[in-house]
Amino acid sequence: MIYDLIIIGAGSAGLSAAIYAGRSLLKTLIIEKSGYGGRVNDTASVINYPGFSNISGRDIVKEFRNHASAYDTNKFTYGTVEGIEKEGDIFCLKTKRDKKYYGKAIIIATGTFSRILNIPGEMEYTGHGVSYCSTCDADNFINKDIHILGSGDLALDEADYLSNFCNSINLLVIHDRGVLDGNAQAQAKLKNNPKISFTWNCELLGIYGDTKVKQIEYQNLKTGEKNLVASDGIFIFAGMSPNSSFLEGLVELDDQKFVKTNEFMQTSVKGIFAAGDVRKKVLRQIVTAANDGAIATVYAERYIRNRSKL
Ligand SMILES: Cc1cc2nc3c(=O)[nH]c(=O)nc-3n(C[C@H](O)[C@H](O)[C@H](O)COP(=O)(O)OP(=O)(O)OC[C@H]3O[C@@H](n4cnc5c(N)ncnc54)[C@H](O)[C@@H]3O)c2cc1C
Repeated sequence: MIYDLIIIGAGSAGLSAAIYAGRSLLKTLIIEKSGYGGRVNDTASVINYPGFSNISGRDIVKEFRNHASAYDTNKFTYGTVEGIEKEGDIFCLKTKRDKKYYGKAIIIATGTFSRILNIPGEMEYTGHGVSYCSTCDADNFINKDIHILGSGDLALDEADYLSNFCNSINLLVIHDRGVLDGNAQAQAKLKNNPKISFTWNCELLGIYGDTKVKQIEYQNLKTGEKNLVASDGIFIFAGMSPNSSFLEGLVELDDQKFVKTNEFMQTSVKGIFAAGDVRKKVLRQIVTAANDGAIATVYAERYIRNRSKL
């Protein structure tokens, strides 16, 4: 069977692409390796998607999934894509379990994973006090005194959420006093939250404990002073890395391995499009992932229609 379109990844970008594919009556396969909805599942509440002033991550992706499933031409399957090859003018996708799928056009919507810093203790204590997902792990930290590394939107939003569970949260921030990267609304909320404090000009050096985290060590980047302090755990929000290893040597990637596209979501290979967080872009959010997915399908459809006239 040759599909018109194969979408790899069923997060916000992939599901949005699938909705547009359904409306265009494209025979579409959506391949997802783990859970439908992608990273939105990791957020407790979404307050910035138009039409939903406050909805849980899981509920919003359920809406996306139901919408994308409403089209008979969309078929969903589980699988981890590990390679793409071109056979004539058809793309062949290979999965981890050696399954092959064929499509006229491909949309890569594989998103990102949390960046691992490889700090001493980080891997050892992941799941034992080191976490990258507050929705997944917050209830392990009830009444605990914890740290958060990061100062972007994600770190600030998650600090606010975690403060419902923890006794105290200290944010380790690399910048000078008062400088945070996250949005102004989240900053204001945290500054009025008595459970939140900040350590400025701070670099994390190590995470230590026995069966679980007991201490962290950090250094003041200005003075060089090192501090070993008690901690029940640390959440690391230090950016995202793209799920693009299977694309190396196939499509053009930037120096951080994000997929390069033009504004039509076309990659360096004709017939392969990319959408959502896996792309090189300025804002990684649900709304921009949905936007990318829509554009990718519209241009994939044009590619497919023009291709069949050749
Ligand atoms: C904790 C957290 C909170 C957030 N909160 C918000 C928020 O409040 N508002 C907001 O707008 N944004 C938020 N974001 C950002 C938002 O989740 C992302 O921008 C959005 O999920 C990107 O969608 P995506 O489809 O590009 O990628 P993803 O959601 O990452 O989906 C990619 C999908 O591809 C699958 N996949 C990966 N590799 C393969 C493969 N090889 N084969 C098959 N499938 C594969 C993955 O399993 C995944 O399901 C948050 C992110 C995090 C981590």
